[in-house]
Amino acid sequence: MSTVSYGKFTIEIPVRVKLFIDGEEVSSSKGKTFTRENPAQFDQTIAIIEEASTDDLNRAVDLAREVFDKDKYGWVTNYRQRLRILYKTAEILREDADRIAVIVALENGMPIRQAKAHVLAAAEVFEFYAGLADKVYGDSIVLSNGNVSLIFKEPVGVVAAVSPWNFPMTQAARKIAPALAAGCTVVWKPASYTPMSAMEIYRALAKAGLPKGVVNVIYGPGATVGNELVRHPRIDYVSFTGETTTGKLIMQQAAAGIKRIGLELGGKNPGIVFDDANIEEAVRAIVFGGLRNTGQACGAISRVLVHESVHEKLVNRLAEVAKGLVIGYPLDDNTDMGPLVSKAQEEKVLGYIDFGKKAGFKVALDGGKLSGGIYDKGYFVSPVIFDDVDPKSRLAQEEIFGPVIAVIPFKTEQEAIEIANNVIYGLTASIFTKDPAKALRVARKLQAGTVWINDAYTQPTEGIWGGYKQSGIGRELGLYGLEEFLEIKQVYVDTTGSLDRPHWRTVMKIDKL
Ligand code: NAD
Repeated sequence: MSTVSYGKFTIEIPVRVKLFIDGEEVSSSKGKTFTRENPAQFDQTIAIIEEASTDDLNRAVDLAREVFDKDKYGWVTNYRQRLRILYKTAEILREDADRIAVIVALENGMPIRQAKAHVLAAAEVFEFYAGLADKVYGDSIVLSNGNVSLIFKEPVGVVAAVSPWNFPMTQAARKIAPALAAGCTVVWKPASYTPMSAMEIYRALAKAGLPKGVVNVIYGPGATVGNELVRHPRIDYVSFTGETTTGKLIMQQAAAGIKRIGLELGGKNPGIVFDDANIEEAVRAIVFGGLRNTGQACGAISRVLVHESVHEKLVNRLAEVAKGLVIGYPLDDNTDMGPLVSKAQEEKVLGYIDFGKKAGFKVALDGGKLSGGIYDKGYFVSPVIFDDVDPKSRLAQEEIFGPVIAVIPFKTEQEAIEIANNVIYGLTASIFTKDPAKALRVARKLQAGTVWINDAYTQPTEGIWGGYKQSGIGRELGLYGLEEFLEIKQVYVDTTGSLDRPHWRTVMKIDKL
């Protein structure tokens, strides 16, 4: 055992992370475990995680099924209970945010300042959906024939939640909180790189009084445990956030049972800088939006489309500001950018940097793999900005998920829109201009779930999040994020009591039989 310290917090590592089934933290029935290493110091094992067997997985699904189908603890009907538990969970996470942030920074590599904001954002999601638990209203229609159609909204059932590592707490909260507010039960498979963040969420839920079996958490590789879960016949809805390729597979598999799905997938998001933009504002937003979390963000600006008249000015300043970022240990208050999450991610990002250089694109900021001191033991990569990138090249088309930005100059508004839309993704876009009419005109034409005007990567909990095209299906956050977990039922009520009904009589002579 050793320890990791930050401020008044000391964490004994490796942390033992267990499965959470039927309200208990339990070991794998097959005794299998895997480890997570510190991405900023890869010779340090920070967690030992129990891996779910098929038996564990089946038990988790059966328990969630039983609570839902039998309305155990009044889970499905008693929305006040759900409201209180969600509020309490938000409170627990918020009160403990400083300590949980250390865990997030340690296992994800996210700088501690960002990690704190991240935990608070997750708490806010629980709070928001607590407030919606008693507002799942239906509708009623008095029909022209005097009869009544009642529209009920009902929880969709047992939800499989599969979440990624890049924003481990918020991405999970956006699934679990609305699912619970709706009255669903959940089996959750968190990403293997961030098991401890998940543990903080299920512990907060348990402390808040969540009845047993409502949320069950299983760990293991996505390709085996994750896939077995999403294919499980007793799951009603799959809520997945991850890569587009994984999303495609899940969608195909869901087709067999017409399983409901929500997919939050990848992005290749443009930041469009017009000639009348405030360049300093655009640069700061692009650095924040493109390089936060070391660029490991689905909504990150990874393509900068810039009008030719301000091209040089923007690129020079962008390179200058990006170069000034402090790349360091996540648990250091001065750090702006931590390491990439893993060796595989580092290899992928370095591969794209290598490709860009070999392809001969101009290098406006030459970063890449860092070495010396702490850098030797972590996946530290500094920002790289390629200039004059061919919009059709892999650098401008594929999601890199690292601190790599491709700058593409344009001449006209129409050209900017075409380049922006000419990718398979459609998650976010940013527009920088002082002309409000142009901003709205362009925003309407962009194929993106979120368009920011003179900003980047801010996600109000009350708003929405989700993608056009291959960036996904469905929406998270806000009121729409709750709808995902609701089925809509119509109940038609005859109020006449008559044996002579026009709609019967028109089709059949029932009264004569
Ligand atoms: P990933 O697809 O590799 O994994 C995501 C989750 O799915 C993990 O828990 C993983 O274990 C599991 N998984 C992997 N293969 C699976 C399979 N065959 N069946 C079932 N589950 C499987 O993605 P990642 O590397 O963890 O996350 C990065 C990706 O997530 C990026 O593409 C990013 O853009 C995307 N992302 C999207 C959003 C969004 O809101 N649109 C948010 C965050 C991340």
